Amino acid sequence: MTDLLSLTPDAARAAVAPWLAARSEPAYRGSQIVARLWQRPVASWEEATELPTALRRALAEAFPLRRLRLVTRQLSRDGTEKFLWQLEDGEAIESVLIPEGKRRTLCISSQVGCALGCVFCATGRMGFRRNLAPAEIAGQVRELLLSPAGQAPTNVVFMGMGEPLLNWEAVDASLTILNHPDGFGIGARHITVSTVGILANLAKLARRPEQFRLALSLHAPTSALRLALMPIEKKYALPDVVQALQQFRRRVTLEYVLIGGRNDDLETADHLAGLAKPLGALVNLLPLHPGGAPDLTPSSRRRMLEFERRLRSRGVEAVLRRSRGLDISAACGQLRVELEPRRKVRAEEHARVE
Ligand code: SAH
Ligand code: SF4
Repeated sequence: MTDLLSLTPDAARAAVAPWLAARSEPAYRGSQIVARLWQRPVASWEEATELPTALRRALAEAFPLRRLRLVTRQLSRDGTEKFLWQLEDGEAIESVLIPEGKRRTLCISSQVGCALGCVFCATGRMGFRRNLAPAEIAGQVRELLLSPAGQAPTNVVFMGMGEPLLNWEAVDASLTILNHPDGFGIGARHITVSTVGILANLAKLARRPEQFRLALSLHAPTSALRLALMPIEKKYALPDVVQALQQFRRRVTLEYVLIGGRNDDLETADHLAGLAKPLGALVNLLPLHPGGAPDLTPSSRRRMLEFERRLRSRGVEAVLRRSRGLDISAACGQLRVELEPRRKVRAEEHARVE
């Protein structure tokens, strides 16, 4: 049995072609079948009524469609929605949908748990359980489309559970499925991979020709401070990660969770500015979600604003995010924050008189 949903669209077409030929089915059935994987997804082959009944039965035998079972769907007061999916082996993962104006950003998971143990992170506390298959990663988008009133996300971010660059092969295939016109057709610039900076795989991501976006979880501008928050610093030291970013050739976002008394003093902001400025990076400042770490406190609102102002005064583009979905502990057992820059108010919007 082949898991078509774990293949890229081209590989899926190649996998069904000999099977169709052996059944003396016309070759165009291949495109009809691939279209039902992601473009116009079906919950089961039975629903693909454009195909002959016998073929649908045979497809169900040879290529069963893997589903994620929706366990709970919670809606926050601010419109953020959290989905808890159960996998075939009983493991569970979360996705979070964040509507904002016309944008609908889906935050997806790449692993069950995470091995990296960042001190502020709820997923890190769980430890690592297993990698997700592409059918389970891209499947989070697929299931959203299959759900009642399901609408496709405009943006996808790998900011749910897990470290995407420690599951490179599946993430690599998932990126293709998300972006490919025969997949979900989401523009590469609307797909963001968030990582602590796993160097070998960062280079593989950089080599892909599509303009996928990169968010680097920095959280500290010096190695010593980063080490206290993120054990991965031992393996991939900050100077090497920064060097890798310089080679990325695309503008990167630096993610920075503000933790009271740990990484939020203004001298640290100056260090951060010194690091971000030459990279031309955008700095996303995230309020600490208390769910991840009972022993840590978020920075005060005032300090967050001061920190943001300090970065800006040093010529760094910095944006303080609002926490979203706090009342439903979105995302992914930790924090869900806005991931895209605040909408800029354009001149004509000021000028328009109704
Ligand atoms: N493992 C990847 C992607 C998943 S985490 C990474 O670390 O980048 C997605 C983002 O959520 C990261 O920037 C991470 O630092 C942030 N995050 C984790 N726990 C958090 C918390 N308690 N509060 C705020 N942000 C958190
Ligand atoms: Fe893993 Fe990212 Fe959480 Fe760190 S922040 S433990 S890398 S999921």
